[in-house]
Amino acid sequence: MLLEPSTASPVPLADAERLASDAYGLTATARRLPGEYDDNFQLLTLDGRSSVFKIMHPSREDSFVDMQCKALLHLAGDAAHLPVPRVIPTAQGERFARIRTLDGTERLIWLLSFIPGATLAETQTPRPAELLESVGRLLGEIDSTLLTFCHPATTRDIKWDLSRALWARDYLPCIADPARRSLAAHFLSLFEQEILPRTSHLRRSVIYGDANDHNILLSSPGSAPHRPVVSVIDFGDMHTGFTVAEPAVAAAYATLGERDPLRVAYAVLAGYQSLFPLNHNELAAFFPLMAARLAVSVVNSAHRQALVSDDPYVVVSEAAAWATLERFSLIDPRQAHSFFRSAATDDFCIGTSHPERRDDGSAFAIRRYETLAESLAARKSLLGKNLSISYDQPLKVVRGWMQYLYDDTGRAFLDVYNNVPLVGHCHPRVVAAIQQQLALLNTNTRYLHDNILCYADRITSLLPSPLRVCYFVNSGSEANELALRLARTHTHREDVIVLDHAYHGHTSSLIDLSPYKFNGPGGQGKKPWVHVAPIADDFRGLYRRGEPDLGKKYAHHVAEILENANRQEHGIAAFIAETLPSVAGQIVFPQGYLAEVYKHVRSAGALCIADEVQVGFGRLGSHFWGFESQGVVPDIVVLGKPIGNAFPLAAVVTTPEIAASFNNGMEFFSTFGGNPVACAAGLAVLDVLESSRLQENALRVGGHWVRELQLLQEKYPLIGDVRGSGFFLGIDLVTNREHSDPAKRQASYIVNRLRQEGVLAGTDGPHHNVLKLRPPLIFTDSNASLFSSTLSKILEEGPAQP
Ligand code: PMP
Repeated sequence: MLLEPSTASPVPLADAERLASDAYGLTATARRLPGEYDDNFQLLTLDGRSSVFKIMHPSREDSFVDMQCKALLHLAGDAAHLPVPRVIPTAQGERFARIRTLDGTERLIWLLSFIPGATLAETQTPRPAELLESVGRLLGEIDSTLLTFCHPATTRDIKWDLSRALWARDYLPCIADPARRSLAAHFLSLFEQEILPRTSHLRRSVIYGDANDHNILLSSPGSAPHRPVVSVIDFGDMHTGFTVAEPAVAAAYATLGERDPLRVAYAVLAGYQSLFPLNHNELAAFFPLMAARLAVSVVNSAHRQALVSDDPYVVVSEAAAWATLERFSLIDPRQAHSFFRSAATDDFCIGTSHPERRDDGSAFAIRRYETLAESLAARKSLLGKNLSISYDQPLKVVRGWMQYLYDDTGRAFLDVYNNVPLVGHCHPRVVAAIQQQLALLNTNTRYLHDNILCYADRITSLLPSPLRVCYFVNSGSEANELALRLARTHTHREDVIVLDHAYHGHTSSLIDLSPYKFNGPGGQGKKPWVHVAPIADDFRGLYRRGEPDLGKKYAHHVAEILENANRQEHGIAAFIAETLPSVAGQIVFPQGYLAEVYKHVRSAGALCIADEVQVGFGRLGSHFWGFESQGVVPDIVVLGKPIGNAFPLAAVVTTPEIAASFNNGMEFFSTFGGNPVACAAGLAVLDVLESSRLQENALRVGGHWVRELQLLQEKYPLIGDVRGSGFFLGIDLVTNREHSDPAKRQASYIVNRLRQEGVLAGTDGPHHNVLKLRPPLIFTDSNASLFSSTLSKILEEGPAQP
């Protein structure tokens, strides 16, 4: 494409005034308005009325002005309420006229009503979502009205037609700075990859085409800043192009100067979609088109600057556009796509998004919960009330991406504590594996299938040598339940030793085995077959940091239980513990503790079960499995939660001897356990863990993070302890450091304040005073620092307040 080469000398104000008088009979004062090629003036008459007088560049053809006039007339006729400029006819009743300026050039002139207001560029950031949605709505309404408009000039070759964005490649050398040049080139390549292949799926229609922040006007922004009247001016870039380019251009410019571009773009898109719904391909194109528009804009500026070095209009958005392109380069386009999909309002919950019709066409009602209050009320009446809900202000999450969760308004929250999405919420590789296998086959394990075999092979190769036989189930509870059966079958004994405050699952036996439950509200107390050992907590427990032989001292209690049981002829089948207890308060055992315990347990003929449901799979950074950090090898290991990155899967892995005892004639079968889809999820998780070296990331980022938190601990007495490793950390809040008195109320306050600030954390421990930090392993240094600085801000405010 050849960019407009010529520039014309500006028409002087006096000449504009003369022409306005000749053609329109107006006695007016002219004031110059900005414009890239044409001369634009505001005409002020003595009676205080204003109009916009356009004296077009000499190269402009009649059809160009005719198109704009007719489009504005079409809008005035079919959508009269839209606050777009109106065409004012000449004294002879023409839409436009051809005249000669003082410099002797022939030009087209036309007159429009003046729309007062501030430009979007002049409004303060962050711009409210309501305002941005109004911009999107206006454009959606303009474009739906223009669906019935046609004019031959809309199909002209225009540089702002994003379907032709790759013209900008030829002009990249105009950008002097090599880093900037490659940034623009990067987004043109993204366009090539993402837009070209789906070109035939992107609808084309007549669009306004130039919703940049200087063309969007907001009237009375002072009196009603959230609900201003939004209008657009300058229809000179109207063309037939990708419909989705319309909101993409608006979104691209609305993000200039904004810290959270996705939030801003989402609001514009949501407004547009409410009047002109876009399809999935268009939503996939949205971010690449936003970026392409800014890339085209900076290339255009660089080229025009070479041509007209002192024209401020040319570079009006340039600095902000570069800054925004840099921000865009930090956004994964797939994240943007995932995020924008939720602007399609019926896409929030896939299960509720289907047409309200039976196969025979008859209608049936589907309840939708439009507001948070409705969802909450329905939850209370439809679900058991003892299903708790997090935060004083409950969160309705509709989308996840890596370390972020998004609520129903599109707000992003940094997820610092959900340990199930190990490699990140909705990791595309895991999602693709699940989707592909689900489309192929999902069935039970009574047939040969390679997924389960590959997964068993991969998982056993990550475990130490005696742990070689796998059983697959669907949840941590099922896995612990099965581990219990294995231990009992192998030892022909019943009783189990468990640590105080532990939680191992929600089945009847596991509630009996979880002091956190049976000693808590509604609990029925300890059953005779359960033996509780004190938890080896060196911060708040029986023996504390600084004392010698902590591991041995705590382990001695287990030895005592074993001796007593032996004396009373209770057979202990197993000792079960999380290798780093999480529910009990992100506890790290003293060195040597489990080695000593396992020694006692084994010499009493019992088995050692490691519940790795929370800490396995590299979370600790230093070790892949929690038990490795204690230098032990369990007889049975229980895996769950993160194993399928939120797809239900759990496993029990044991030794061939224990497996042989369990093979006693009774079949073991779990309908869903180890199904091809679950194993595909598990395999994809291991692939991502390895290929992205996420255990190393946990070690590195977690290390910095602990140091940041320790600095906060030095400053704020409320922080009694910072403990853990990698991305398994706990911040123990105390009201009195000397006695480690738990600061339960403050912990709850902080977690709720963090939520207000967009950071999701939770509490754990018997006193609910330990902030648990267990983010997805893709968490970055800046994510960790954001958590630390937000926590610091809240501590500075004084979290002791109610
Ligand atoms: N073990 C531990 C250590 C757990 O934390 C949990 C769940 N919080 C379970 C077992 C039970 O897992 P699920 O909820 O998947 O049944």
